[in-house]
Amino acid sequence: VRYIGIDIGGTEIKAGLVDREGAILAWSRRPTNRREPELLLARLLELVDSVSGGSEVRAIGVGVPGLISVRSGRVEMAPNMPALNGLNISEMLAGPTGLPTIAANDADMNAWGEFGAGAARGSRHVVCLTIGTGLGSGLILDGRLWAGTSGFGAEAGHMVLDPEGLPCGCGSRGCLETIVSATGIVSLARRGIAAGATTCLSDDSGLTARTIQEAAAGGDAFAASVYARVGRSLGMACASLINLLNPEIIVIGGGVAAAGDYLIGPATEETRIRTYRQTFEACRIVPAQLGSHAGVVGAGLFASQHFAATVSGA
Ligand SMILES: [Zn+2]
Repeated sequence: VRYIGIDIGGTEIKAGLVDREGAILAWSRRPTNRREPELLLARLLELVDSVSGGSEVRAIGVGVPGLISVRSGRVEMAPNMPALNGLNISEMLAGPTGLPTIAANDADMNAWGEFGAGAARGSRHVVCLTIGTGLGSGLILDGRLWAGTSGFGAEAGHMVLDPEGLPCGCGSRGCLETIVSATGIVSLARRGIAAGATTCLSDDSGLTARTIQEAAAGGDAFAASVYARVGRSLGMACASLINLLNPEIIVIGGGVAAAGDYLIGPATEETRIRTYRQTFEACRIVPAQLGSHAGVVGAGLFASQHFAATVSGA
């Protein structure tokens, strides 16, 4: 039995043919058309065709960068891709393909992928943080995806860490993702450079989370201190999550997580300081395993689980 997993991102849409264990059997990608829903649908249908390649597909799962209402199935808010607002992605795809389709939040699908076939396989209480341009998160509690009352839950990126902090896309300020994200890292470095820090970095268009990470690896103490500060903020968030949920595992993925020990080292130490020894020792903080495939794998596995449950419950 085969499923199609789709991950709609800001720059590209990825799709894969996935088996019930989460192995990817075929793979394709297309640039995202961010403005026109008709073109977006055309791209999605092309991808479904391209990865299904004549195999018998049972269902489709789609990870969408926005808040999807569990009640209406519509995208209620997509701050990074406003063209998705109000769309019912599952109905849009189910009609032309004739396949049962489920759409869910993209960070939730990342988490579901790491839970089903990645770093959190075998765990039942899982927090998954994906650190890129922003900070996405997903929660699996007692083996089930936790999306809350409306489907909008598990938004750890909007926990407030600094009440006087930078404005966030959600309308609040000082949210975790304004600090622990590529955007937050660059912004912190920029402020340090403006304040006269001694560093090989300069504040120009070439300043990215990656160039700062490379400078840290090359021995630049200022660049390392930027990651250490961001890592401590990440640790405060992990500690809050551990204090609230007592999870078995926190999986950290996304482009920024590639900074490894510069980020995860200080994060783990800060987590230790701010948690009970028992809950800290019960929780592993580990890197994600599926990389940029997590969303596709998760969406495929989610469709498999969702429609299997629907059939057996009918
Ligand atoms: Zn926010």
